[in-house]
Amino acid sequence: MFSTNKVDRNHPLAVKIRKQITQALAEFNMLADGDKLMVCVSGGKDSSILTILMDEIRKRAEIDFSFEAVILDQKQPGFDPELYKQWLANEGIDLKIIQKDTYSVVTEKIKDGVYCSLCSKMRRAILYDYAFDNKFTKMALGHHRDDVIETTLLNLFYVGQLSTMPPKLRSDDDRNTIVRPMVFVAEKDLISLSEAWNFPVIPCNLCGSQEGMKRKRMKKLVRDLEHEIPNLAASFTNALQNTRPSHLMDHKLYNFKEL
Ligand code: SF4
Repeated sequence: MFSTNKVDRNHPLAVKIRKQITQALAEFNMLADGDKLMVCVSGGKDSSILTILMDEIRKRAEIDFSFEAVILDQKQPGFDPELYKQWLANEGIDLKIIQKDTYSVVTEKIKDGVYCSLCSKMRRAILYDYAFDNKFTKMALGHHRDDVIETTLLNLFYVGQLSTMPPKLRSDDDRNTIVRPMVFVAEKDLISLSEAWNFPVIPCNLCGSQEGMKRKRMKKLVRDLEHEIPNLAASFTNALQNTRPSHLMDHKLYNFKEL
């Protein structure tokens, strides 16, 4: 059973993260008056903190927007969002639970135990459909600064592309707008705040999948480098906002031929 005491929304880390979220919302124009926001919740620490802090931001915001927290129950064995729903209700936030058994489909189709890619694809499609059908104007995801850095490195090293998880994105089918309000938030701060708040996280290993080895490798690479370069994460995110097409090699961005 979780404590019925509400989390301390004025905890110094909560205040710091809320300011970083507010900065991202403003810099990338993520929300506008009248927006209907769907916060995609996994039950993990990141999206849980995002949900609580978006609730706090909504109360303080000058613009008028609504939001709904939505979780997808994919029927992984042992996945039980009820306690989590109670915890959010105790915080004054209603949780919408969508039920869809993607677990059976994924385990039927994938035989090597690495389910994440198909599982996430199916989850995304279901959540995008729900957002579109229910007229949400934006969908918020709980990705943070470390996710952004790891994704950039994955794309660089394995895909041959200089790209990342953007803070704001229109879906390929033009039906949904996705925002990532925590792109400036460090994962270590989210871990420390989740420990301080001590809420009932739903574990993400219920499916027994051998989750992304390449992503784990990137995480370790960044962690090791940070011993030598303590400012790495800040410099990295600055670089993503400070590209110089004339100092890259992409003909689509810069007309080298006409020089
Ligand atoms: S860890 Fe499990 S639930 Fe999470 S994305 Fe991978 S397969 Fe899906």
